Amino acid sequence: MSLNLNLVLWLAFSLFAFVIVLLYGLVQNYLIDKRYREQTVENVRSVGEKVAQAIEEAQEQAEGMQYLAGKIFEISMKNNVTVYLLYEDGTSVFSADFGRNYPDLAETIEDLMADGSPYKIVTTETEVTYVAAVEPNGQTAYLYVSHSLEPFWELEGRMNWTSLMTALFAVVLAFVASGFVAMLVTKPVTEVTERAKQLARGHYDLNFTATYYCMEINELSEALDYAREEISKADKMQKELIANVSHDFKTPLTMIKAYASMIREISGEDKEKRDAHAQIIIDESDRLAALVGDLLDLSRIRAGLAGDEKTVFNLSEEVYRIAGRFTYLCDTQGYTIETEVEDGLYVCASRDRIEQVLYNLIGNAVNYTGEDKTIRVKLYKKENNSRFEVIDSGKGISEEEIETIWDRYYRSSETHKRPVKGTGLGLSIVKGILSSHGYPFGVISEVGKGSCFWAEFFPPPAYEEETEEK
Ligand code: ADP
Repeated sequence: MSLNLNLVLWLAFSLFAFVIVLLYGLVQNYLIDKRYREQTVENVRSVGEKVAQAIEEAQEQAEGMQYLAGKIFEISMKNNVTVYLLYEDGTSVFSADFGRNYPDLAETIEDLMADGSPYKIVTTETEVTYVAAVEPNGQTAYLYVSHSLEPFWELEGRMNWTSLMTALFAVVLAFVASGFVAMLVTKPVTEVTERAKQLARGHYDLNFTATYYCMEINELSEALDYAREEISKADKMQKELIANVSHDFKTPLTMIKAYASMIREISGEDKEKRDAHAQIIIDESDRLAALVGDLLDLSRIRAGLAGDEKTVFNLSEEVYRIAGRFTYLCDTQGYTIETEVEDGLYVCASRDRIEQVLYNLIGNAVNYTGEDKTIRVKLYKKENNSRFEVIDSGKGISEEEIETIWDRYYRSSETHKRPVKGTGLGLSIVKGILSSHGYPFGVISEVGKGSCFWAEFFPPPAYEEETEEK
């Protein structure tokens, strides 16, 4: 079950405020209660002792009982306590008490004092009482000093009510405040989610970056913006790929159909013409086969080079061999391929794939080199790696193009007459193979002067040890 973030924050805040205020009220109540009881016990004891002392003083006075009555009145008024002085039968020592009798009370006190202790403090829910046995006029009597707790309970009851009201008020306040905060927190999330949904629907023109007060949301927006750019690039490339592939398929197919018709209708009897037309059909079929081959290669490489076994082989020999495949151009079209290859350099890789890399790079150099028709192919040891370079003297590649040439189906806008057939997928195949092996690669190019495409191959582990031993 998923809950609305807004609601969760809202409820959490409100509950938190309610619990805090309630806890505060309860703890405060408990502490005040405890402290008040302790204080009352202390006060009642001290008042009781004062009365007991007054009783003793009264014995030494001429008008003893009168003095005592005055004193007790004064003390009880001042300390807000009830004081009784009773004989064992419950009659009051003072006639001022209008002869009221408290036999039950006297009996209870008698029981309490039976253990012979000088005084006792009795605490009940409603009062705190000091009781002691005294002898005001040579006769045993009981002193009873009591302070009622009821006014305090009343006050506390009112305080509890106030606490509860404050807690409720805090909850309402928290409800409003948390609603506001929750809105503030969830608004950017909702906004970003809404835009992400639009992105999923294929709207690549929206912008995620906005300055939110929350760092995490800003980071999320940036990440989504990056994803948007990448998805839009991939989408564009896919569209271009389909357009280019269909276009590149259409031309040879049209040619094949046209020349086949021509053979049937016109050149069928004329051997020379028929052969020429048939050759065109063969060439165009080759072009189609090459295109299909490259597309298959590309999808296989992208799928992770499945089925390509890595072996240790002599890279130097491989470079010689691949460069040798272009010698027919030297003989027939005046190209020069200079090789500077250091012998005995090994690599552990998928041999067929590396062959493809070397072939594509040298082939491109042949296609794009300048008037002097010269290409330099180098292989040398650089630190522990084998560095392969193929240098041409062509028109070079501009800064803006350098990033895009490795992308599928990128082709510089101008058409170029090339001796080696290209499908526009060569460099993306190179990139796919080298990246999947983890080999670094790149191009250094200067417009008007030429380009140097390079790749570095790691030595096989055994080879590394061998050279270290030497
Ligand atoms: P193709 O050569 O079949 O068009 P590639 O993928 O091999 O496809 O190359 C992509 C693009 O990169 C080429 O169309 C060209 O514009 C550029 N390029 C590749 N190699 C070179 C080079 N040696 N000099 C200049 N431009 C090059």
